[in-house]
Amino acid sequence: MAPAADRPGYWGRPTSTLDWCEENYTVSFYIAEFWNTVSNLIMILPPIYGAIQTVKDGLETRYVFAYLGLTAVGIGSWCFHMTLKYEMQLLDELPMIYSCCVFVYCLYECFKQKKSFNYFLFILLLTFSILVTTVYLQWKEPIFHQVMYGILVGCLVLRSVYIVTWVYPWLRPLAYTSLSVFLVGFALWNVDNIFCDTWRDVRQKMPPVIGAVTQFHAWWHILTGLGSYLHVLFSLHTRTLYLKHRPKVKFICGIWPVIRVEPPKNK
Ligand SMILES: [Zn+2]
Repeated sequence: MAPAADRPGYWGRPTSTLDWCEENYTVSFYIAEFWNTVSNLIMILPPIYGAIQTVKDGLETRYVFAYLGLTAVGIGSWCFHMTLKYEMQLLDELPMIYSCCVFVYCLYECFKQKKSFNYFLFILLLTFSILVTTVYLQWKEPIFHQVMYGILVGCLVLRSVYIVTWVYPWLRPLAYTSLSVFLVGFALWNVDNIFCDTWRDVRQKMPPVIGAVTQFHAWWHILTGLGSYLHVLFSLHTRTLYLKHRPKVKFICGIWPVIRVEPPKNK
């Protein structure tokens, strides 16, 4: 992990338990890690659009929560990387757990009747969230948070593989794109942590804008933001397919994927 603040900045000394490889306050006096901050936009804006569309289409509220959960992580992460304050770190890390719990609920309940509610699973995930929060507030060990997050991601991967293997094989491209993009992001997160000294040396010798490309934690935001967004699309696609809404993935401006649905035919 990188050493503490390299230059003085608006938010003062970092109090977070993690300080990433990006050099602090080198681009802006007001933003500790500039690239790690602005790269969160991909996690903030598209899910807001997704949430609005979900409401407009009259789809289940759980998917509004799923989209907005991702937005909450993006905003928390923005605040964390901008300030490197411990409270803001929690605002990034805890919503990662909560939003992932929403994803788990959605994906494990996608073959249930409309308007069903699984109290058991809800209480289980709520208990998990409360436990993780309580323990993590006492025991400020980032690895604990990373392992708990990893467990939830593991549950999502297993369920996704089940769905595309046994139920809707034609959703494989969407599910596996989401997973691959996420995994490449995770690989870059490690590359950033492990080879931090190398990247810092490399950036010294490069023009600032080109050096920004080597901010692999920012790439982790972009790729896991996209991967998580695609996961919500996959989950919503599975759910609306089951509810006979005839979902389709469309690309806005030929680039950004969204789900379009029609009302069920048999109603
Ligand atoms: Zn981050």
